[in-house]
Amino acid sequence: MQPDDAIEKYFRLMPAQKSALKRLGILTLRDLLYHFPVRYEVAGSETNARALIPGAKVVLYGALSGLKAKKLWKSKRNITEGWFEDGTGRVKVIWFNQPYMASYVKEGTSVRVSGTVGGSAEKPYIANPEVEQVSASDIPIGIFKKDDEITTDMPALFPVYPESRGITSRWFYHGLKKVFENGAHQQLQDPIPQAVRTRLNLPTLTDSLVWIHQPEKKTHADAARKRFSFEEMFAIQTARAIDRAQNDAGPSFVIENADTLVERFLETSPFPPTNAQQRAMQDILRDFSKGHPMARLLEGDVGSGKTLVAAATAYAVVRSRPPNRASGLPAQAGTLQVAYMAPTEILAQQHFESFISYFRHLPINIALMTGSGCKKFPSKVSPDKATDISRAQLLKWVAGGEIAMLVGTHALIQKSVKFQHLAFAIVDEQHRFGTRQRRALAQKNDAAPHFLSMTATPIPRTLALTMYGDLDISVLDELPPGRALITTKIVVPDKRNEAYEKIREELQKGRQAYVICPRIEEPDPTKIGALQAKSAKAEAARLQKDVFAEYNVGLLHGAMPARGGSASGGKPSKDEVMKDFADHKIDILVATSVVEVGINVPNATAIMIEGAERFGLAQLHQLRGRVQRSSHPPICFLLSESSSAIPMKRLKALEKSADGFALAETDLETRGAGDLYGRQQWGVSDLGMEALKNPRLIRAAREEAFAVVAQDPNLSHHPALAQRVANAGKELHAE
Ligand code: ADP
Ligand code: MG
Repeated sequence: MQPDDAIEKYFRLMPAQKSALKRLGILTLRDLLYHFPVRYEVAGSETNARALIPGAKVVLYGALSGLKAKKLWKSKRNITEGWFEDGTGRVKVIWFNQPYMASYVKEGTSVRVSGTVGGSAEKPYIANPEVEQVSASDIPIGIFKKDDEITTDMPALFPVYPESRGITSRWFYHGLKKVFENGAHQQLQDPIPQAVRTRLNLPTLTDSLVWIHQPEKKTHADAARKRFSFEEMFAIQTARAIDRAQNDAGPSFVIENADTLVERFLETSPFPPTNAQQRAMQDILRDFSKGHPMARLLEGDVGSGKTLVAAATAYAVVRSRPPNRASGLPAQAGTLQVAYMAPTEILAQQHFESFISYFRHLPINIALMTGSGCKKFPSKVSPDKATDISRAQLLKWVAGGEIAMLVGTHALIQKSVKFQHLAFAIVDEQHRFGTRQRRALAQKNDAAPHFLSMTATPIPRTLALTMYGDLDISVLDELPPGRALITTKIVVPDKRNEAYEKIREELQKGRQAYVICPRIEEPDPTKIGALQAKSAKAEAARLQKDVFAEYNVGLLHGAMPARGGSASGGKPSKDEVMKDFADHKIDILVATSVVEVGINVPNATAIMIEGAERFGLAQLHQLRGRVQRSSHPPICFLLSESSSAIPMKRLKALEKSADGFALAETDLETRGAGDLYGRQQWGVSDLGMEALKNPRLIRAAREEAFAVVAQDPNLSHHPALAQRVANAGKELHAE
């Protein structure tokens, strides 16, 4: 047996097993060895779903499935029912008057369920159990008798693998047993260098593979899991270190006297920068002077003033001349150029206008390029206005260097867009803007542009280091002065009308409000039933008719066309609705959470979030940020469909904290990264997501990886690591 042999060479597979393995991406013995159990069971113990005794208080670990909300015909009571399973068996679970349960817990995620067993020994059930999502590592591993050894009268620990139709945990157990007996796992080279392993006290690859799949002791399983979390983070950090080294090796534009230019710009600014803004600008200016491309992430809560940082530093660039070129080239017109990319057309339009107001006194051209058209400022005819121009004309001017600042959407990185001297690329809220896209920008020019990514999405520090580990990070941890603090209130279902009255008070003062309804990712009528939480459409109609008849209620959701005109077939478009809201033709905007982040309607001062327990804390924080755009004291109502203790505890954190990044950390602790940040999106395994809860592990992985790459930039002396990085990279770059 060789690690890279196909599984089929040694195992006779039924068609269902074959397709299950394929779905899981398991083709070779190596893949099989790296497919880890989520937890371990000891069959036959009293903490299992099998053999529950009515009347007993139990705490069970496993997963929920088949959850369905329904209404009891006679009593009109709402119930949710389904199954709890833990690998030894299953038991029915029922909740009364908690219809949200069906969508609160994702099927198959690991949960801790506690409650009292009801029914009979033959037909037990657990009514109204508390459910808490837990990570696999929080699940006690079986039952261990004295000295952590499994005694002979105990059955063996049984590994439970992530659920997949067509293939059982039992199959994995026996398959791996055969692989271990053949010693195929001993032929794998350890991607973690020996020295690193010794320093961090990690077991070898060979031991760890056996221990993670077929542990005899809990300590072995723990050590192996820790090792593989480290290994994954180490591989990711190695990839980041290589990206970073390649970035730093190339040339970029040196911006001469950038600090003087920024100072001059700030003199014209209506307000002095905050200390945090000042620090971020200094970071950027230092990078501008180095001759290598900047690669930086600017993190700052909504309203922290990232645009000013971008504008001041962009100013330094658009006031700089291109460097002297090789002789023989004709003298070139124009200045160094800046590209600013926004996630949506509305935001691109808004930023285009902001930059015009920042730069209107300068003799430079600013342009807007989106899918729906192009604009240029100033217009030849009226020098204080922007004018529509053709895309072809704009492309010519951008290529000729006449446009100093180009604002736009993704349209900016199409091949047809060629800059003369793109020196600075700013990307706002584009999580998916990866290293490769950054390089694509660079290839349009001989020297690579300085790159600044900006985000208001609060993410925990460990996740930032993992996802953006090739970027330096600047943080705006301070809001500009004079902001009114937001009041956040949790509203229980029977106080709903009081919240409406408060909103009415705001409207009477001439302000506006948002009502956010939960976005429904995968509507599945069999699971969700008629009791699904409020939909934006129905809620907008209801509020208009029954609650706020005297005001204009608008509707905005993800399924609406982005733009109006012929493309939308006459249906109202997101752009039109947003504009009507900005122009105060709409008083209350009912929206799903897709309503664009960063939209600036300072007159909106109240927000009501329905089904708040469905959202992550960081997301709720971002939503409420939409009413924190002025000096009017804003208010945020969190409507909860439940009064259950666990979601309440989470929501209470929002009442107390105004710091998005602290909330993101709380999210990470209480819900786990996999749940919050969708691991598919990042290509990180569950075990890797676990690692994000451990800042020390992340820091160690990062330091060790950067040290290895500093010594061996091509990993030519670390072939096993190179292979591991390539494997991790396959997923990481599936952006
Ligand atoms: P974000 O970081 O969310 O992009 P913006 O750049 O949109 O924040 O800034 C939010 C608001 O704060 C804007 O109206 C801006 O004019 C204002 N602002 C930015 N910096 C300062 C400052 N130093 N002092 C006062 N107001 C500021
Ligand atoms: Mg912004």
